[in-house]
Amino acid sequence: MYECTLCSLSTTRKNVVVGRGDPKASVWFIGEAPGEHEDESGFPFVGAAGQELNKALEFLGLGQGKYYVTNVVRCRPVENGRNRAPTDEEKAICGVKLKDDIARWRPSLLVTLGKHSTMYLLGDIGNMYSNVGKTFSYDGINVFVMLHPAAILYRAGLRMMWERNLGELKKVIP
Ligand code: URA
Repeated sequence: MYECTLCSLSTTRKNVVVGRGDPKASVWFIGEAPGEHEDESGFPFVGAAGQELNKALEFLGLGQGKYYVTNVVRCRPVENGRNRAPTDEEKAICGVKLKDDIARWRPSLLVTLGKHSTMYLLGDIGNMYSNVGKTFSYDGINVFVMLHPAAILYRAGLRMMWERNLGELKKVIP
């Protein structure tokens, strides 16, 4: 069992959440950090946002072995029993593992879900809404920027943007 203690999230987590799918796949989806359901199960994107992501995978035609899903931070950030956003320090400490994994597996396409993974890999590229659907580069690997699937659950008005970006993403899936 992999037991990281590099940051204080190790004192409250139940499970270290690394990834699901196949890291050898050419397309990786990168979220922010595990929430409650992910912490319980040990797998990323198994809650409500995960249902949206699963629908997207189906739309994109990415079945078993064709994708990998992971996060910048591997343990659940929690405050007063509720999920919170990961801090810059937590991202800096844990994100090194993400970068190591990217360097090891070299997928052809990284899809960043939301501002945390986008800015962690690309730096401050400015407003998320003006960057979704665009392709950038990280270490010579294409990075397609998407909204976080949780965003469309909280703001129904973003669903159209999400669907439009999915259509664009489908055209560049290797
Ligand atoms: N949100 C994320 O960013 N990652 C998960 O694994 C679950 C929800």
